[in-house]
Amino acid sequence: MIKNIQTDVLVIGSGIGGLLTALLIGKNKKITLVTKSSLSQTATRLAQGGIAAVQNFKQDSFREHEADTMKAGHSINKPKIVKEVVEMGPEIIALLKSLHIHFDESLHLEGGHSHHRVAHVKDMTGKIIEDKLIQAVRKNKNIQIYEHMLAIDLLSKSNICHGATFFKDNNIVAIQANETVLATGGIGQAYLHTTNPSVATGDGIAMASRAEVGTEGMEFVQFHPTALEERKTPQLLLSEALRGADAHILNAKGEHFMKKYDVRGDLSPRDIVTKAIFEELKKGQVYLQFEMNKKSIHKDFPTISAAIKQKTGLDLAKDMIPITPVAHYLCGGIKTNSHGVTSMKHLYAVGECASTGLHGANRLASNSLLEAAVFAVKTAEFVLKNCTKNKAIKIAIQLTAATQTYKLKSLRKKIQIIMWEKVGILRTTEGLKTAIQELASIRNLLPPPHFINREISDTKNLLEIGLLIAKAALARKKSIGCHWQV
Ligand SMILES: Cc1cc2nc3c(=O)[nH]c(=O)nc-3n(C[C@H](O)[C@H](O)[C@H](O)COP(=O)(O)OP(=O)(O)OC[C@H]3O[C@@H](n4cnc5c(N)ncnc54)[C@H](O)[C@@H]3O)c2cc1C
Repeated sequence: MIKNIQTDVLVIGSGIGGLLTALLIGKNKKITLVTKSSLSQTATRLAQGGIAAVQNFKQDSFREHEADTMKAGHSINKPKIVKEVVEMGPEIIALLKSLHIHFDESLHLEGGHSHHRVAHVKDMTGKIIEDKLIQAVRKNKNIQIYEHMLAIDLLSKSNICHGATFFKDNNIVAIQANETVLATGGIGQAYLHTTNPSVATGDGIAMASRAEVGTEGMEFVQFHPTALEERKTPQLLLSEALRGADAHILNAKGEHFMKKYDVRGDLSPRDIVTKAIFEELKKGQVYLQFEMNKKSIHKDFPTISAAIKQKTGLDLAKDMIPITPVAHYLCGGIKTNSHGVTSMKHLYAVGECASTGLHGANRLASNSLLEAAVFAVKTAEFVLKNCTKNKAIKIAIQLTAATQTYKLKSLRKKIQIIMWEKVGILRTTEGLKTAIQELASIRNLLPPPHFINREISDTKNLLEIGLLIAKAALARKKSIGCHWQV
């Protein structure tokens, strides 16, 4: 038996993108907010550095934030979107403050930024934002929340979205909605090594792709240069703000090598630092270090400092901390316009699963929380103005909750290894072609398409995402930004 639910607006995902969109639309529309784990299991919660927005107009300007964003993105960003997002920065900070998020007075400096402009709450910005948004959403009577409910596929007919199908407690649920917002986050779990949480399996993008909704920029997977060297996923991120606070990258001989690769040195944009570290790692371990025994760092970055101590016994203030680049952020995704509208009617995408054109070939640090918040505001405005009654329709749903377990762990690992080795930091034409063949052959090993549970859905989606990335990378040919090909 399939359970049916009707709602005005369906929002899928409970990171900054989903929560803020739901909160803003929930002011005067009935919302159903669904998330596949508990509300707080998100990438948003892990954000450390903060949110980029020009605030100190004596030293900084919108034009400089725009220029930094374009330069980091290798100028294939959409300039109009860049301008709009940057200029909404102060409004977003004010909106977050109105939700009782109290930013520190200081602003962080991060790679690729020409000024200190990253608003933060110590090194736990994402956690504070997530917690405050959850509190506000829980208080709103218009928002019905479903946790541990997994979106499977879009309900669509003739390129009109009517909601989505879900898996909950071993049952299939259909939610019909006038408007549907995907805010399902990133794809990091497609790779063997990542900073991303276990929920980041690219579900929304895979669902959109299966329904033939347009995607773009899938080749631009950003590898963060400075994750803690540990063979455990997700890997601890060592925020770029540490370098902004004077930490340096060095090799085993103690040499500061970054200036050899770019005049901006340790604070170059991420794609450049990642490539440099990738090269240096061929010669030996690479490290991050504060050379002056900077004790204040424990107070300024309490979360990172405690996690390093707990995992390695090392002292962030003075020890050489081993680092490595890992998969971190998808710059592309579901193609949207400036109001979150996708190529399918009544379907929107917000946050990391969306490709708005802001990032181009490489995201500027701390522009993603800003982007997610800006497009939550803009999508909410659009939905509130345009939400119409989307006729309830009958769509045949051919899904069955899988009763047996399929032991797909080893297939998932296989996908992650293919992606890491052949569609990772450095790509070759041959490697990409082989990856596509190998991924395609895994398809035949999956259970029949109508059987579903969390394990099957995650594996199916990772495979879909892997193929989208590998095919986009193969089509790109020339290296640019996060896409590095020889
Ligand atoms: C370690 C780390 C540090 C970062 N630091 C920063 C930073 O300092 N500044 C910055 O700007 N950015 C940072 N980022 C990036 C930023 O955090 C993310 O891009 C942003 O939070 C994404 O928000 P989102 O709402 O799009 O997705 P998320 O916060 O990832 O939320 C996605 C939601 O969708 C749900 N979901 C997924 N699939 C389904 C499904 N099938 N059914 C139902 N629900 C589903 C998930 O459970 C989750 O609730 C960081 C990322 C990481 C991983």
